[in-house]
Amino acid sequence: MVASVGADGVLLVDDDYSEYAMAYEQAVKALSDEAVRFVVNTHWHGDHTGNNEFWGKREAVIVAHDNVRKRLSTLQVNKFFGRETPPADPTAWPLVSYGDSMALHLNGNTIELQHYPRGHTDGDTVVFFTTDNVVHMGDHFFKDRFPFVDMGSGGHAGNYAANVAAILAKVDADTVIVPGHGALANKADLQRYHDMLVETRAEVGGMKSSGMSLEQIQARGLDLRWESWGTGFINEENWIVFLYASF
Ligand SMILES: [Zn+2]
Repeated sequence: MVASVGADGVLLVDDDYSEYAMAYEQAVKALSDEAVRFVVNTHWHGDHTGNNEFWGKREAVIVAHDNVRKRLSTLQVNKFFGRETPPADPTAWPLVSYGDSMALHLNGNTIELQHYPRGHTDGDTVVFFTTDNVVHMGDHFFKDRFPFVDMGSGGHAGNYAANVAAILAKVDADTVIVPGHGALANKADLQRYHDMLVETRAEVGGMKSSGMSLEQIQARGLDLRWESWGTGFINEENWIVFLYASF
């Protein structure tokens, strides 16, 4: 999460799971006496939107891509993990939604929201704090881990890698890069992540075009240098599923 604080009020990027509402309310109070005026969601997943209802009921304006509003307001079925997510309470839906890009002007910062299509989902926003040179990547960045690509929500591993390349081209060595998952990062970390995406995809693409099935590729596995990347939420077997489906 990122909080922008100042005379214009508080803006949050993402709001985590609902069980942490009180902890975040206290954390925001410690930063500012001003109200939370805006919550930007990088995408619809519950670990990024779980407190929309909490903040929405306190009169914060939720802002997100059009497809986040669509997905939060309807039943979502995740076949990959066998999970169903019922529609969120209407107070949790974005009051403001956008298509390609928009900007907020708050606390001396220009805050650009840019949609990156068909990546982690179909409604991903990357948030550029252009004045302060801070970027919130949403789930276009799982630092040093294989990412989840939500194919049921319009995600695509190949386009995901292309999106990360486009974001890399917009940042510099001083940019503070906030991953959706993992510790605070910089451009070198994001470059390493990008290279993993491209090189593991090339490995799987090569094996697939030689006629190997998904199961055969999973059995052979990726190059050993990627071993540590599969120790998080998404293991190597799952990552290969997303890569295989992207060809
Ligand atoms: Zn996510």
